[in-house]
Amino acid sequence: MTRGVAGLSTSLAVETVDAELCIGCGACTQVCPTGAIHIEDQDGVRRTIITGTVVREQPLLTCSECGAPTQTPAHREFVRQRLPDHMAALLDRELCPSCARQRADRPVVEQALVYDDEMETGVSIAC
Ligand code: SF4
Repeated sequence: MTRGVAGLSTSLAVETVDAELCIGCGACTQVCPTGAIHIEDQDGVRRTIITGTVVREQPLLTCSECGAPTQTPAHREFVRQRLPDHMAALLDRELCPSCARQRADRPVVEQALVYDDEMETGVSIAC
């Protein structure tokens, strides 16, 4: 029998949970064959709910740009421990996926605006 992050058994014959190990990642909600596991985010708290029972409550971090809830501190630390140092440093920005994507796209958009301006003025661009 193998066990997940929170000690959830992957065997259908025996189900055991050590809720204190749950980091609130939500992966179990994607694979539960009966849909018995839910993650609920409300009022800055993430709740892991199994068959209607709240088994774990954890605070949620928020995006530093838009304020949207992102992930639990335990989930962020779980990810941080598995990244090389140069990538783990990026987690400190605490951006939601949407803001992180917009920020990553920003230089490309700025380049496109410069390109548009140059086309209007007739200046050619060497590629
Ligand atoms: S939310 Fe908790 S129980 Fe579900 S996979 Fe993540 S750590 Fe495991």
